[in-house]
Amino acid sequence: MSYNIAIDGPSGAGKSVLAKKLARKLGFKYVDTGAIYRSVGYYMYEHGIDVSDASAVEDALENVDIRLDYSCGGQQVLVNGVDYGDKIRLPEISMYASAVAAIPAVRKKLLDVQREAAKNHDTVMDGRDIGTVILPDADVKIFLSASLESRAHRRWLELLEKGVETTFEEVRADMQRRDHQDSTRAQAPCVPAADAVLLDNTNMPPDETLEAALEIVRAKLGELVK
Ligand code: C5P
Repeated sequence: MSYNIAIDGPSGAGKSVLAKKLARKLGFKYVDTGAIYRSVGYYMYEHGIDVSDASAVEDALENVDIRLDYSCGGQQVLVNGVDYGDKIRLPEISMYASAVAAIPAVRKKLLDVQREAAKNHDTVMDGRDIGTVILPDADVKIFLSASLESRAHRRWLELLEKGVETTFEEVRADMQRRDHQDSTRAQAPCVPAADAVLLDNTNMPPDETLEAALEIVRAKLGELVK
C-alpha cells in the first residue's frame, strides 16, 4: 500500500518548492511533471518543430521516447536517452511546454509515464491535472494558488537570481498567457479536483505554506505525519 499526494495549481504558485519539501519531510518520492512537458517542449524547440501545428508535433512525437530516472536521488527526464538539464527552465521553453501540453497526443503519451512513476511508491507529484486526471484516487489533493502579481514577482526574482535578463512586466505577461492557455484548454485544464483542498499562499512565506500543507496531509493521513 502506498500513498500519493497530488499538488496542482498555476505556474509560479510555488508547487515544486512545496512538493520537494513535503516529499523530503515525509520520505516520499518527488515527481515533477512540469519537467516532463518542458523536456518534450525542448525537444520540439531543438528540432525546429512548430508547436502551434498539432499534427507536426504528433508526427515528431513518434520518434520520442520518454523515461524517468530516479537513481541519482532526484528526477531525471530522459528524452531519447538525453537529459536536457536546466535548459528546460529557460523562459522561452515555458511557452513551448504549455503549447505541447495542450495537444491531446502529448498528454496521452505522458499519462502512463506519470502513473508509472507513482506506482508502488509513496509519492508527492506536482502538475496541473494530477488530482483530476493522472492520480484521481490520490490520498491527498492540494490546489495551490496565489495572485498573478505575487506569482509573477516570485518568478521574476527567481529568473534574476539565475542571471536571466527580463522585466517584471514581461514575466507577468508570459505568466498570464500561460495561465490562460493552461486553464482554458480542452484537455486536462488546470482546475482544482472536486475533492482538492484549496491553499492560497499569496501572503505566505514558503515555510508557512509547508506548515499549511502538512496540516492538510495530517488531516488525511493522520499518524503517518509527525
Ligand atoms: O510546472 P511547469 O511550469 O514546469 O510546467 C510547464 C508547463 O507544462 C505548464 O505551463 C503546463 O502547460 C504544462 N503542464 C501540464 N500538466 C502538468 C504539468 C505541466 O500541462 N501536469
